[in-house]
Amino acid sequence: MCGIFGYIGPRTDAPKIVLEGLKSLEYRGYDSWGVAVVAHNTIVVKKKTGKIGDATVADMPKSSFALGHTRWATHGGVTDINAHPHLDCTRTIAVVHNGIVENYENLKKQLIAKGHRFISETDTEVIAHLIENHYVSLKRGGLKGVTLIQAVRTAFLLLQGLNAVIVIDTKSRQFIAIRNGSPLVIGFGKNENYLASDPAALLPHTRVVQFLEDGEMAIVEERKITFKNVKTGKGLPIKKQKLNWTVSQSDKGNYPHFMLKEIHEQPEALRDIAKTGATGALRLARAIKKSYGTYMVGCGSASYACLAGSYLFSKIAKRHVNWAIGSEFGYHLNFLTPKSTVIAISQSGETMDILESVKKAKTRGAVIVAIVNVLGSTLYRLADDKVLIGVGPEKAVASTKALTGMIAHLLLLSWALAGDVKKGQAMLAQAALVSEKLLKNKKHFATLVQKLKDVTHIYVIGRGLSYPAALEAAIKIKEISYIHAEGMAAGELKHGPLALVEKGTPCIAFLPNDETYGANLAGAMEMKARGGYIIGISFKPHEVFDYYIPVKDCREATLIPNVIVAQLLAYYLTLERGLDPDMPRNLAKSVTVK
Ligand code: GLU
Repeated sequence: MCGIFGYIGPRTDAPKIVLEGLKSLEYRGYDSWGVAVVAHNTIVVKKKTGKIGDATVADMPKSSFALGHTRWATHGGVTDINAHPHLDCTRTIAVVHNGIVENYENLKKQLIAKGHRFISETDTEVIAHLIENHYVSLKRGGLKGVTLIQAVRTAFLLLQGLNAVIVIDTKSRQFIAIRNGSPLVIGFGKNENYLASDPAALLPHTRVVQFLEDGEMAIVEERKITFKNVKTGKGLPIKKQKLNWTVSQSDKGNYPHFMLKEIHEQPEALRDIAKTGATGALRLARAIKKSYGTYMVGCGSASYACLAGSYLFSKIAKRHVNWAIGSEFGYHLNFLTPKSTVIAISQSGETMDILESVKKAKTRGAVIVAIVNVLGSTLYRLADDKVLIGVGPEKAVASTKALTGMIAHLLLLSWALAGDVKKGQAMLAQAALVSEKLLKNKKHFATLVQKLKDVTHIYVIGRGLSYPAALEAAIKIKEISYIHAEGMAAGELKHGPLALVEKGTPCIAFLPNDETYGANLAGAMEMKARGGYIIGISFKPHEVFDYYIPVKDCREATLIPNVIVAQLLAYYLTLERGLDPDMPRNLAKSVTVK
């Protein structure tokens, strides 16, 4: 969702540094952007709708103190005026914000009654006027020496909802960053400091960071950073940590898109997990064995990792596991007890529905285990135990390496539960090899996407471990190529969807070398009999296939190369349709609102 970037230090090109920072956050999805700089005791703002593209901030004054924002509109249309930063009436305070001020209408009415003038339709502007109001009225009330920090704290405590807010003013040369819900991370430099909504944006500048916790504020100056509890105003200790990502992991390198780069990073990432993932898997396996009931929770592709986990646990470890999608978890968690284990799976560790699920599970005393990609993220910090997915920063909105990384860890965990983690490691190494070969031979996709580029519907079937592969293929196709795709358990075909299959309807069937082969083939036949155009993804060809994509067998781990086929198909289909796979419309990378 929205991106935030701020710089304070000796360099005088702060607006440019901030614009570059915002560019590195573009992948999160946004509809407008803005930068504020403090120069000669005034705040100068530049804001625009659309993408940053080739825009520059060369027309802004030189400054060593600047703050920027990419907006993902929730309240008020996508207009230049509604873009952040927002100013107060005196134009001496500027605010950027991620989240939703749920009580903004009420606050706005009160502020208008007091004479404040609003120029945007956003909930965010309320924050600027509220701070102004407190600053002025606290001073008037005889509170001499009242600081902006006090005014920001008082104003923030009146906001309802999950919000992150950064405030600057013309006088104090400091960022006041405050959070309840939305992510914020502070970057420590040498005589200069940074803040951002995502640690990946800080990598070109520093790897020493501190994540802000809910209910905390940071006062970021050039040579000093202090943390405070928002409610009490009391100081908090500094708890720096070092990011283990490299800069090259977060740029595109020689690839035209992040998505393609991330697809290609998978064999290496899988090999890495095969080598290093056993310790975490064994530790989690011990915890799961002690618990009564294990529940997995994830959103989007991560929810398909959970579904895959349920098959892997059953097949390999002979264990039952429940799973739910994050937004539904809250409605059926009454059975959780302090003996339950909840495995929360998320790339960013900031997905709001997952954080809410985990907080609810915690109130019931359940043990929380996180499988998460971002070190220090909110989920990482909330969890009692954690396994880092370890695939490096993922920037394309459509998840690729994070999903296969999640599946890889669940595969290891299943084998660890079965008492043979080494077998899981070997299987993963094999999947890495098969995936690598697949990526070297992409000729299959060129002809296939010609065939599919103008269709309106695609159906995808699978059974057992290929059911999550079918769901994943459908979501990938939908989210980036905008073709309607539906993934389903093959057995469900005749309970409804078969009615939609007619001459030429593209039907993708996953047919790995496992116990589902025969029944899945029957599904493909049923579609073929109604005129379906069958795309078979399998270890061997079959006459029912109109188009065949070979995927070598690697037992339960075949799910991984199968998912990679789905990624490549969606990617090339999107290119063929002239669309940008990295930035699908209406979607954002990490969903930090409910
Ligand atoms: N609710 C605010 C707005 O619509 C913040 C949006 C964001 O998080 O980008 O402007």
